[in-house]
Order: sequence, then C-alpha cells, then structure tokens
Amino acid sequence: MPKLALHWQILIAMVLGIVAGLLINQYWTSETWTSLGVGAPAEFLAGTPHDANAQAGPLAHSARFAAKATDFCGKLFLRCLRFIAVPIVLFSLVVAVASLGDPRKLGRVGGKTIGIFLLTGFTSAVLGVSLATLTRPGVLDDPASRDSLPRAAAQSAVVAEAGAREYSAWKVVLDAVPENPFHAIANAQMLQIVVLGIVLGLGLTLIDPEKATPVIRAFDGLAEAVLRLVQLLMHAAPIAVFALISTIIAGLGLAVFKALALYCLVVVGGLAIILFVLYPGLTTLLTPRSNRVGFARFFRAMSPAQIFAFSSSSSAATFPVTLQCCRDRLGADEGIASFVCSLGVSFNMDGTALYQAIVVTFLAQLYGIDMSFGDCVTVALMAALLSIGVPGIPGGSLVVMAVVLDSIRVPADGIAIILAVDRVLDMCRTVINISGDAMGTAIVAASEGKLLTPAELAARGDSATT
Ligand code: ASP
Repeated sequence: MPKLALHWQILIAMVLGIVAGLLINQYWTSETWTSLGVGAPAEFLAGTPHDANAQAGPLAHSARFAAKATDFCGKLFLRCLRFIAVPIVLFSLVVAVASLGDPRKLGRVGGKTIGIFLLTGFTSAVLGVSLATLTRPGVLDDPASRDSLPRAAAQSAVVAEAGAREYSAWKVVLDAVPENPFHAIANAQMLQIVVLGIVLGLGLTLIDPEKATPVIRAFDGLAEAVLRLVQLLMHAAPIAVFALISTIIAGLGLAVFKALALYCLVVVGGLAIILFVLYPGLTTLLTPRSNRVGFARFFRAMSPAQIFAFSSSSSAATFPVTLQCCRDRLGADEGIASFVCSLGVSFNMDGTALYQAIVVTFLAQLYGIDMSFGDCVTVALMAALLSIGVPGIPGGSLVVMAVVLDSIRVPADGIAIILAVDRVLDMCRTVINISGDAMGTAIVAASEGKLLTPAELAARGDSATT
C-alpha cells in the first residue's frame, strides 16, 4: 500500500484531534466521572488523593492514563523541538551570514528581508484596524451581552499587564544586544541569539579565510545534523499534533466563543486575508514567471510547518520545521532560508500585528472610546512596531498588549475580556507568523536566483522525505 505523504498524515491528525477534543468536551461531563466513581475529577486527574475518589474503578484509571499519555506525547514533541530551536537558529545563522560573505551582499539580502517584513507588518496592522473599524465587533447594542463577556481570567490579565508596562521600543533594541552570549543561549533569548549569530558570522567574514573556513564548516555540519534530526522527528508529528490539539480543544470547547463570536470572526477573517491573499499575492507578484511560487506551491511546501504552528502556538518551537520546509520543500537556498527565517522568528509577526490592532480597536469600542483617525494611525504603528520582538511562545502577544492599549488610553484590564478566547486565536496567528517568514524566504531567494524550481527540487530528491 502506498504510504500517505506526511503532510496528509499531519492534516488528518489535526482534524481527528479537533473532533476528539470536541467530543470529549461535549460528552465527558462530571456525570461521566461520577458514574466511574470519581467525585472530584480535577484532583483525580492531577493524582492528588481525595476521599471523593475512593471508589474510582479501572475505567476511571484507564481514562486518566489516556489523558496523561496524550498530554505527555504533545509535551515531549514540543520539548524536542525547543531543544532544537536554539542551536539551529545560531548555527544556521552564523553559516548563512558567513556564506553571504561580502558585507555588500549581506546588506542587500538583509535590506530586502527587512523591507518585506516591514511592508507586511504595517499592512497587517492597518488591515487589523480597518477591519475592526468597519465591522465594529465591540459595539454591543444589548447591555446584557456586554455583561456576559468573560471576565474570569482577570487575575492573569493583571500579570500580563504588569509584564507589559516595562516594554518600550527602546528597551526592545537595547535588550536585543546580549550582555553575555552564553546567557542568551542558555535562556533561549531568540532576539539576542539572532544578533549573536549575525555578529559572529560577520566576524568570520572579516578574518583570515584559513582560520574562518574550519569554524564555518563546523557550524555548517552542526546545522546539517540538527536539521536531519528535525526530519526524523517529523515522523512523530502526526501523533504530536493529535495530542496537542485534542488536549486544547477538550479543555476549551466552543461555548466560550459565543460571547465574542464577531470579534473572533474578525480576527480569523483578517488572518485569512493575510494568509490566502496577501502572501500568495506577494509571492506570485515578486517571483519570476519561470519559477513562480503561486498559491498551491506555497501551501504544499509549507503545510507541515503551518499545521505544527497551529498545534503548538509557538513560532519559536516551529522554527526548525519552518526552516526545513523552506529548504527541502520550497527549494530555497539554505543560507537564504536560514537568514530570512532566523530574522523572521523575532522580527516578522504579521499575525500578531493584526491581532494587536484588532484587540485595541475592539476594546476601545467596548469601552465607548471614540478613535480618531490619528488614534487609528497610532494603533497601527504601535501594533506593527511592537510585534517585533514579541516572544514566539504561546500567548506572547499578551506581553506587549498593555502598551498598545495605553497608546490610546484604553484600560488595560480589558485584556481579561479577550483572554478566554486567546488560545485558539493564538493558534491561528502563529500560522500566519511562520508563513510570513516562508513568504519572505521565497521572495528573497527567488530575487537572488537561489530558489530551486519544482523540477530541480524533485531531481534533488529530498522534497518527498517529508
Ligand atoms: N504565539 C505567537 C507566536 O509564537 C505569538 C503571539 O502570541 O502572538 O508566534
């Protein structure tokens, strides 16, 4: 029997995970636990002794085992990817910068990369403000619906807000420069690691090639070995995707989305415009006709990374998969892919920029604050700039949200309202964040003549491995 391609396996696992999660959320209620002899399900699942669980039978224990095993599989996979993310960013960026060699070439590739990232970042933020202004998801005619908005998470909002107040554009730039490179590596500070990789790579281009070459070769070998590990690890991706998605959906269900339905729709609609119109539009326009990266080619190449971003809500954890897809499935030159994706992992967060712009406009409407044209421009600028340096972790946006809210005096405790639905929207915006890096890679690689055509890629023979 022919083996199903890995991206199909991952896609099927995702759909099954959503279905399983929804079924569990709907039908596995506290009555189900009671019928199995469990009176305090939370304690039972956590393994904390409780008198009410004394009667728990073998079925209850099996259910707990299944829940723990599922959670374990997802967490283990994420841990492996996080383990890979720091070394791969560093190794591949050093090699990429050193192999670009000539600082003029580095400047040209860097300039194009940053230009594309800024263009899409601002476009996304402007799109966010415009969509929210047009659809007005925060204007609730019925005061009862306003009162029904979830506020349960107020506590976490206070924490997120406290973290965010220390955030400013100056601080982002200052913090990007590592005081101690080993500290940056040990603490997985991606922005600092990117700076370290660029500086070290530049340093290698400036010394005697006889000394530089063995060092570059060593980094190159290490980067290659780590990417090979990613290829192997991807064989376990369907199981991990099922585990991650089913656990999240089983916990969330759909009920929480009712109160904020229009807001969620606006966010998802905006993200869809970026993913399905802006990116394929730009790659189609900006890649040559002879080697065009159109809609189908883009999605076929990037779908494993996109599904993984969706399941993990972490663009940093997805980075190894993004890089591998850009190189092995899209056909981008390794140096360019490493350079653009490494920069993108901290600089290019279009999904996050759009999201922040919508949240601020939505909350302003909810609190009855009129936004002037100037306010809209401020919000778009803040959202685009502050998306730079947002950590590529689940809920990373919340770290800077209060600063964007402050910019037009929207009370930051409004974050509590959107927290309840943040996780699923986070899954969606993370897909956009990593797709933006792939879009940049395709355009820069094609403009430098460093993008294989599908025929060349097939002849090289490794596109089919994942
Ligand atoms: N989770 C997102 C990411 O990893 C960041 C965010 O919260 O917007 O890309």
